[in-house]
Parts: sequence; C-alpha cells; structure tokens
Amino acid sequence: MLDKSKSVHLFETAQNFIPGGVNSPVRAFKAVGGDPIFMQSAKGAIMTDVDGNEYIDLINSWGPMILGHAYDEITEAVSKAIPHSLSFGTPGALEVDIAELIVKMKPSIEKVRMVNSGTEATMSAIRLARGYTSREKVIKFEGCYHGHGDSFLIAAGSGAMTMGEPNSPGVTRGTANDTLTAPYNDLEAVTKLVAANKDQVAAIILEPVAGNMGCVLPNEGYLQGLRDLCTQEGIVLIFDEVMTGFRLAKGGAQELFGVQADLTTLGKIIGGGMPVGAYGGKKEIMDYVSPQGPVYQAGTLSGNPISMAAGLAMLKHLDTHPEVYEHINAQSAKIAEGTKENLKKLGLDYTTNEVGSMHSLFFTNVKVTDFDTAKTCDTALFGKYFNAMLERGIYLAPSQYETLFICNALTDEHVEAILKASYESLKEIH
Ligand SMILES: *Cc1c(COP(=O)(O)O)cnc(C)c1O
Repeated sequence: MLDKSKSVHLFETAQNFIPGGVNSPVRAFKAVGGDPIFMQSAKGAIMTDVDGNEYIDLINSWGPMILGHAYDEITEAVSKAIPHSLSFGTPGALEVDIAELIVKMKPSIEKVRMVNSGTEATMSAIRLARGYTSREKVIKFEGCYHGHGDSFLIAAGSGAMTMGEPNSPGVTRGTANDTLTAPYNDLEAVTKLVAANKDQVAAIILEPVAGNMGCVLPNEGYLQGLRDLCTQEGIVLIFDEVMTGFRLAKGGAQELFGVQADLTTLGKIIGGGMPVGAYGGKKEIMDYVSPQGPVYQAGTLSGNPISMAAGLAMLKHLDTHPEVYEHINAQSAKIAEGTKENLKKLGLDYTTNEVGSMHSLFFTNVKVTDFDTAKTCDTALFGKYFNAMLERGIYLAPSQYETLFICNALTDEHVEAILKASYESLKEIH
C-alpha cells in the first residue's frame, strides 16, 4: 500500500473548514471510495503527492495541461507578466492578442469575450442567445455538462451524476422549466421537442463530443442535423467546447466534424492552467453583448493579464505545433488499442469509446451512445479499478463518467506502464 498519511491528515483538517474537504466535488473520491490525494507538484505527465508518491496523470487538471504540467513556455510567460501587476481592471494588450488568435484558430468565431471559467462562458452564452432571439427556452441534452449555472443543472452528467444529484436542490422550478432536455444522439427526439415549443427555443447547447458522461461520440450526421434544425428554426446553436476546444484539433470538434456553431464556449486549455473561459461566435450575435449591445455581461478580473499570458502562450504553441495533436492522438490510440487487447486477453467485453486524445473505458457491455446507456455501467466495479490503478501509480479521474485526457508529455514508456497497470488491475478486480 502507498503511504498516504499526509494526504489523510490534510483531508481530515480540510473537512473541518471546506465543505466535503474539497473545492470542487469531483475531486473527492466519494464515487470510488477512499480519500482524495493532495498533490504537491507536477511536471510533464507526472504528479507528485504530499507524501512523495508519483503518479502518471491521466486527468491533466481535467484537460488544460495538454502540454504537460509546468510547461516551460507557459511558466516563463507567466513569470514575465507577474512584475507588471497581477491585474489592471483596464484593457490590456494581451487581451487583443489572444482574441485575434482565437478568431484565427476557430473559423466560426468572429468576435470573442473572455471570462473566468467554463461555467461563466456557458451562462453568458445562453443569456446572449436569449437576448438575441427574444426567446426564453433552452434545450440541453441528458448527460451533457455545461458548468454549474442553474439552467444547466438538469440531467447534468459527471459531477452531478456521480454525486447522485441529477437535478440540484436550489435550482428554482422557474429556471428548470426554461431548460428542456432531450436524449443525446437522437435527432428525432430533439426535432419533436422543437416543434412542440415552436418559436420559443432560443438555443440548443451541447458538447459536440460529450465528455461528461464518459466519452460519447456524436452519431454520423447528428451534429449536421442539429445545425440544419437550428438554421431552419432560427435557434442559436451553441457548441460547448470547454473540453473539446483546442483538444480534438486546434479548431476543436467543429474542425474535426466540419460543422460550425453560431456560438462556441471555451475554457480549460484556453487558460493554460489559469482560470479562463471565453464565448464567441458570429459578429452579428456577439455585437449584442454590452457595451456594444443590450445583453449585460461583465467581470472584474476578466482578461486578467496573468491568465492571458498563460493562455496566449498555450494557444500560440498549439497553433504552431500541429505535431502536438499527432502525438497525443497516437498515444491515446495506443492506450485505447492496448486496453481492448487487455480486455480480450481477460475475456471481458467492456465498452471503450475514444476520439483524438479522449478515451473512456466503460464497465458495461452495452454500447454507450447516450446518458441511458452510460448509466448501465457498474460504478462499484469502476471504483475498485480506480483504486487498483492508483496503487500502481496511475491517476485516473475518480468517476466512471469522466474522460481520460492525454498530454503531450506522455511517452511510450508511460503508455506501457499504464497498460501493464490496467491489465493487472482488471485481473485483480475480477
Ligand atoms: C468543465 C466543463 C465546463 C465547466 O467549466 P468550469 O471552468 O469548470 O466552470 C463546461 N462545459 C464543459 C463541456 C466542461 O467540460
């Protein structure tokens, strides 16, 4: 057994002062059993905890650390920015640079507004869609997560699902009534829902590849079908690319699948590890945002110079190094293939889904295409697998309903170690 005594002690103390001992619920190990590990430092693909144990990191801060932890170009950009003040509350040059670069990297974005998190981005995007269309209802899909804004905490995937709270208390009935839900990957269902709410739907929002009920890919033609439906009905199509943006390609899922959204929400990678989000899209819609337009949205620390320095260094690197995507996709494919081989060798027929550098092993033999099929997973078995992997120095996301992320620092040796640990862990728990 790993010595986790310092983590155990920290968690005991933390629970006295922080609800549940953590500042975001998915960090707790509630869904998998055991206590959370407290990290001390990380470099490349390796995280080191407060007891000195090392782990190969397959969360990468839930996506942002796509180049690996403490990447020199990014830490240097931050160090360079720090002496010039941590915040101005006025416009700064880096905000112009990053906006220009985002517009260049994402063809459907003509104008972009920076915010401080993915949650802020999605909340702002639906307010904008409502203001722009003068309609009130929003459609989301079961199992998609769009941050913790009230309107989205309805059939919200991973965190909420893991905690057994699909619809959070505290969300008013009024708010819930304005959010309509449809099953993911079912074009007919959403078409009917739109017809039943004719001229009332402001926006359809989705993860173009769902990552918050495990990795779930859009069916062939699904995204284009939604695009056509929205165009026909005057609905704003919002792709929530907080996870997939800058990950599946520099242009995100929109580049990979060749379907353009009206508005796109971004987060995670865009801040290089600092708290950043953004929403952007068609000029005509974005010009509805204050002070150009009537839809109010603001932020004291939005466009913060340190965050912008980190994000800009990240995006510049991704824009000029296409080999990053080749490498992370190749390493992810090796893990996916190796996992399938391991399952075969052990006579197990669990489902795997993968695209680019996103990958999930589902403890079910049902094909996972939506929330209902995702829910067929044996989550208790996943908990055992998670802990068996952790003991072997592999840090997975502590929930069945998450996606694994690959970073560019992951070597073939790391891949081998992951697959070896995975084989042993699968064997141990059966
Ligand atoms: C993580 C995530 C969010 C929320 O972003 P935060 O920065 O945690 O607020 C929203 N949408 C998707 C698709 C995400 O993966």
